[in-house]
Order: sequence, then structure tokens, then C-alpha cells
Amino acid sequence: MNLHARTNTPEGTFMRNIKTDVAVIGAGILGCTMARVLGRYKLDVCVVEAKADVGTGATKANSGIIQAGFQPKGGSLKGVSCVKGNAAYIGIAKELNVPFQNIGGLYVAFGPNGMEKIREKHERALQNGIGDLAVISGDEARELEPRLSSRAIAALVAPTTSIISPFELALATARNAASNGARFEFDFEVTKIERYGEGWRLHSTAGDVLEAKFVANMSGEEAAILDAEVHPADIVVRPRRGQFVVFDKQSVVQSTTGAKPITRALYQAQETNEGGVLITPTVEGNLLAGPTSENVRNFGQNATTEEGIEHVISVAKKLVPDLDTSTVITEFSGIRANIVNVVKEKKDFVVRASAPHFVSALGIKNPGMTSAPALVDVALSILQKEGLSCEPDPSYNPTSQGELHRKPFMQCSPEEQERMLAQDPRFGHVICRCEKITEGDVRNCMHELLPPHTFDGVKRRLRCSMGRCQGAFCTPRVMAIMADELGCTPQEISKGERGGKIVRRCLK
Ligand SMILES: Cc1cc2nc3c(=O)[nH]c(=O)nc-3n(C[C@H](O)[C@H](O)[C@H](O)COP(=O)(O)OP(=O)(O)OC[C@H]3O[C@@H](n4cnc5c(N)ncnc54)[C@H](O)[C@@H]3O)c2cc1C
Repeated sequence: MNLHARTNTPEGTFMRNIKTDVAVIGAGILGCTMARVLGRYKLDVCVVEAKADVGTGATKANSGIIQAGFQPKGGSLKGVSCVKGNAAYIGIAKELNVPFQNIGGLYVAFGPNGMEKIREKHERALQNGIGDLAVISGDEARELEPRLSSRAIAALVAPTTSIISPFELALATARNAASNGARFEFDFEVTKIERYGEGWRLHSTAGDVLEAKFVANMSGEEAAILDAEVHPADIVVRPRRGQFVVFDKQSVVQSTTGAKPITRALYQAQETNEGGVLITPTVEGNLLAGPTSENVRNFGQNATTEEGIEHVISVAKKLVPDLDTSTVITEFSGIRANIVNVVKEKKDFVVRASAPHFVSALGIKNPGMTSAPALVDVALSILQKEGLSCEPDPSYNPTSQGELHRKPFMQCSPEEQERMLAQDPRFGHVICRCEKITEGDVRNCMHELLPPHTFDGVKRRLRCSMGRCQGAFCTPRVMAIMADELGCTPQEISKGERGGKIVRRCLK
């Protein structure tokens, strides 16, 4: 049972003392998917997350591609789970009402080494279970994508490559888990894990305690460190940065320059070890190029660099030479959890029982988002072998409830808009001109299931400040509305991932 005892301390803060059947550490796509899947059973589930929101780790800053599975080594957990996950997302996206587009992919060769890579990936596709992918000539590829370089000589066609919004996916997954009973505790950074009876006791930096009969450690960048609390330290994970550039909406660029939209994910089969970069449309209608692949010192080192962005642009232009860099609206980077003490040929995702009643997912980098549903199945069967009893819960509902995620005003039908305006005239007050978000939308989102506690939380939910002006107009307005809703001053609103005082205040 879920027993929450909160204690006020002399400082006025409080410590959480929670008991649960299954603790999930980390609210990235793996942790959220695990919580959702556990919702099928009569189990109490608690997700603890170090930051103030879901999906703030690698999940928020990736390419947004539901990969086909031709890249990972044949027969590896990475390869097989990618193909299974790719197939599963068609149904998951429908259930969760998350925008998902099956756009297909082209893995493009420019010379003999690229051709050799195509042969290798073709073989891997067969071994991973995608089937026999077609290889087409450069001319045939240009018929599909007219802006593809005239230097491209062939392409491997991956029809199952798809795109999704990574944050929307994580949020919708978490909301569905929460609506099926999972509890999410934010600002709960696990720092110590100790055996407690047959289960485990998790301690947070702030003195919170969570007692769990079973633990799923899905904490991405810290998963190996937490794993070493219960298992001899054997896996070393280090940060590997990937930088991206985002181009303006393709429809906007087309209307001003006439450039035809890129409709598929285009991957470069490398001729040399120059570093691969892909170009892909996003579900929001932008074009994305990247990522680089560079070792960095820590997981916080997520700034973009001149060198990195130049590299992305130069390789992207190799694929699509007429890319107009004046239409770049922003840059960002994400950090991969990269296992460094295993040789490349043997490197794979690791999902294992690290201790009794304790499963860890380690080194989950690309294509971890795609693989998440299949990796979670592996983690669940490990916990079942460890004794987790999974009695089906007849009240489980895998489908997203419309009221848990309202569409922004501007995306609603005229009838819906009329009704919304009659209820609250603040839907008529546009506060983000680029993404067309209204004051009513911001106020609404502050009351949804798993609401935002930071400015970035609102940004990720509504896309305000993600448009062409990059927040110059809307940021102070959004902060003021948030402060009004949370009953604090705009200065108290945290911009980034850590909610600190505000999250704790909201939890009281
Ligand atoms: C540049 C880049 C491009 C990528 N492109 C793709 C792609 O196109 N397709 C694809 O399928 N995959 C892609 N990936 C991989 C994918 O993003 C990751 O594999 C996936 O998001 C990992 O999810 P996760 O839940 O394991 O980790 P995360 O998303 O990192 O989540 C882990 C969570 O645990 C929390 N946490 C950490 N430590 C603690 C602690 N001590 N206590 C409590 N909580 C903690 C973190 O705050 C975080 O929220 C890409 C990754 C990168 C970086």
C-alpha cells in the first residue's frame, strides 16, 4: 500500500517517507514506460525523479526518431529491442494520443566505403528481424527526396523509420501511468541504497526515504553509479554529447524560398570516420540536423560549440547541399549514457538483475527511446523471476484520457474555441506569438496531471519560447502567469530542471 508520511522539520521543509511495492528510479522514457506497464497489475508503484519533471535527461534531447533497427549489431539486445519497440510504438502512440509519423528512412552512401556500410546494415536488419530492406540507386533515392545530393550513389531504404516528439511521449506515458495509480515524486535524487528486509531502502539528497519491495533502476546517466550500491562496480558510464541544429518550420521555409520539404530521415553512411549526422523532419514540422558524438567531462556539459555546430552543418550539407543555414532557429545538445569499459564490438544495452529484487538498465543510449517498450518487458520479466507477483488489475486503462492533456486553444475547432472563450476569456490573450499559445493555455497546463514546476516544464509542454523568437517575447509573460498560479513571485520560478523550493511547496 502507498503510505505517505510527511514530516515538517524545524526549517519548515519536510521529508518524505514512502512505502511502495515497486520503486522506479528515473522518469525518463524507460522509467515512465516501466511505471505504465506496472500499472497493468495490482501493484503500488512510485517513480522517484531527481529533477522537477519527467523526461529531462537524455529523453528530452534526442533526434526524435523511432529507429528501424538496421544500425545496432545483429542479434544484440539493442538491435532486437529496437525492432520490437519500433513495432510497438504504432499502438502506443495511438493509445497515448501522441503525434507519430511513419516517414521512412534512407541510409545514403557516397562511395565504396558507404556501400560496404550499406551491406553491413542490410545484414544487421535481417539479423535484428526487420526483414529484407531494399537498396536503391542514387537516382531512385533522389526521386524520393529531390534535394538529396547528386553525389549520393545508393541508399538503403528503411520503411519503418518513424518520428515522434520525445518529450510528449514521455509525458503522455507518465500521465497514463499516473492515471493508473503510479505516484511520481520529483526532486527526489537517490544517493544511497541499502537492503531493507527483502526489499530496499532508497535515500534522497534531501533526507527523503522510500522503502520498496522491488526496485527498477532506470536512472540513465546515474544508473551505473546507483547499480554499484547493490552490485560490485563493473560498468563504467561516461557522457557523450550530441549537438543538433533546428531549422525553421519547413512550411515557412517553403513559402519564402520555394525549397521542397525533406520528408524522410536521411542518414549518412560514412566514407571516412568524419562522424555521422542525420537530417530528419520533426513532428512539429521543423527540420533537425545532428547529432555530433563527442566525449565530455560531465553530464551537465550540454552547451553547443561552434566546432560542433559547424560539423553538423557541413555533414548535413553533404546530404542536402542546398540547406539554407539562415533558416536555423536554434541549437541544442543531448548527452548519451555511454559504457566505456567494454570494447565496441561487445558493447550492448545491459538490463540485468543486479541484486535480489533489483533490476538495472545500464548504458541505454541510441536507440534507447525506440527500444524502451522491449527493454521494459525484459526488466519486468526479471522482476517477476525475482518474485514480483503480477496479478492483473481489471481497472487498468492503457488509453490516454483526453482531459489529461488539453490541446492548445489555437489547435481547437472553432466550436471548441467558442466554448473555451466563453468559459475563460484569457484564451483570447496570445502570449507566445511564434507558437500561438494563449494565457489560458498556460493556466490550463498548470492544473493538468503532472503539471510543470519550472519555466522549461511549460516550454516543453506548450512549445512557448521554442519558436523563431526563442522566448524574447513570451518568457516574462509565462513566468508571471506561472507565479500567479503557484502563488509565488516570478523570481522564485526556476527556469531549468531543478524545481527546488517550488516543487517542494507544490508537493505539500
Ligand atoms: C543526442 C542523442 C540522440 C538520440 N537519438 C535517439 C533517437 O533518435 N531515437 C532513439 O530511440 N533514441 C535516441 N537517443 C537515445 C535516447 O534518448 C535514450 O536512450 C533514452 O532517452 C534513455 O532513456 P532513459 O529513461 O534510460 O534515460 P533518461 O532520459 O536520461 O532518464 C533518466 C532519468 O533519471 C533521472 N535520474 C538520474 N539520476 C537519478 C537519481 N540519482 N535519482 C533519481 N533520478 C535520477 C534523471 O534526472 C532522468 O530524468 C538519443 C540520445 C541522444 C543523447
